[in-house]
Amino acid sequence: MRYKSTRGNTKGVTFKDAVMMGLARDGGLLIPETIPDLSGVMTKWAGQSYGELAFSIIELFADDLPTEDLRKLIEESYQSFDHELVTPLLKVNEVNVLELFHGPTLAFKDVALQFLGNLFEYILAERGETLNILGATSGDTGSAAIAGVRGRENIDIFVMFPDGKVSPRQERQMTTILDENVHNIAVKGSFDDCQHILKSIFSDLAFKDAYHLGAVNSVNWTRVLAQVVYYFSAWLQLQQPDRFDVCVPTGNFGNIFAGYIARRMGLPIDRLILATNENDVLSVFFNSGVYRRSDVRFSLSPAMNIQVASNFERYLYYRLGQSADKVNEFMASFSKHGEASLHVNTPLVDDLFRAGSASDEQTLTTIQEYQQECGYAVDPHTAVGLHIAGQFLRPGIPMVSMATAHPAKFAEIIADILPSESISHPVLDNLQNLPTRKINLAADVQSVKDHMADVSATRSKV
Ligand SMILES: *Cc1c(COP(=O)(O)O)cnc(C)c1O
Repeated sequence: MRYKSTRGNTKGVTFKDAVMMGLARDGGLLIPETIPDLSGVMTKWAGQSYGELAFSIIELFADDLPTEDLRKLIEESYQSFDHELVTPLLKVNEVNVLELFHGPTLAFKDVALQFLGNLFEYILAERGETLNILGATSGDTGSAAIAGVRGRENIDIFVMFPDGKVSPRQERQMTTILDENVHNIAVKGSFDDCQHILKSIFSDLAFKDAYHLGAVNSVNWTRVLAQVVYYFSAWLQLQQPDRFDVCVPTGNFGNIFAGYIARRMGLPIDRLILATNENDVLSVFFNSGVYRRSDVRFSLSPAMNIQVASNFERYLYYRLGQSADKVNEFMASFSKHGEASLHVNTPLVDDLFRAGSASDEQTLTTIQEYQQECGYAVDPHTAVGLHIAGQFLRPGIPMVSMATAHPAKFAEIIADILPSESISHPVLDNLQNLPTRKINLAADVQSVKDHMADVSATRSKV
């Protein structure tokens, strides 16, 4: 399988190179040249373990790794999960909740980042290279990425997060990791500022090459690929219904885009339901065709406080008839005017998608309802999804809604409405008294580059 860019000027990239490249060299995002159709084979996967299922799917996209090595990397990646099904599906009320938070940092990003950490190490060892990972996080990506690569000798990781805008527990999940290869950067600004710095640094090709930069944000194709697997897992756990709907609490459009790819591979997802908080640029888009930048608002689901969703471009590519020219046009208009639109005749931009947004008040009410009616504790991100899922239930069609974080991760937000036992978790309780390390920087591209250069100069690499 080869990869190409949504902007049309990067082509023929191998899987291993796609893993290392992150953002495509022409500024677009990498996508596979073809998407395999699995509708004929997937019915035979019942009874496979998660690792076997992941292997069956990932090997189609990663054919430049020896089969046995890939199998081993995948198996190792899911051993750090505390549930044997890895992503168990639970019937709660009328919804099937797919719990994606059983990994080491208690959020769904572990599903992809445990695998990506292993892949990086494997490819670097093979090539005798080193890597500087630069990431931006509004909360969960940072800790999950750090957990994926901490302590590895050929990798340094730099994680930018908006100072004071991630939950204290999430910050501790990053800053208590004192391995020498882990560098936390508190940026004075918003998550979009961090994301902007990230994009600028990656588009400086001389810097990117000199420092062997790699990405862990969901611009990395591996993230999407690993996430495709649990959509199939959900369908298998539902006993292979003819069709089903999936609701996904969305920020950067990474998770739901994996669902879109699964659909294109033949998985019978009837509707992909996109749920946002009040940062609703994506739900506005799917309900109107207009993609309009606006200011980031604080909300109770901080990992979704995003107004420019980096993965959205991948979807656009398909929606625009796989035309790199049209993607370029759309993105150019968006970056110039802060707005771009699709010309649509119907209110729906895409019949596969439905979309809605939940206010903080609705989020809290949903958490209360699930606690009182089902004794099931959910975190605010999961609650945004469940609230919107509730609006789109259809008789006879199973609804899967994604639980993206363990409620204990956001205990500060929900302490008043949930019993204390449902918002504690040993992984987090143990962080309370540990020492921390981070550096504060201005929201400025050059400051971050200088810091990376300083660190690289003082760290001797193998
Ligand atoms: C990252 C994250 C999201 C948003 O996922 P995207 O792939 O960015 O859409 C939702 N919930 C939680 C808990 C997250 O960490």
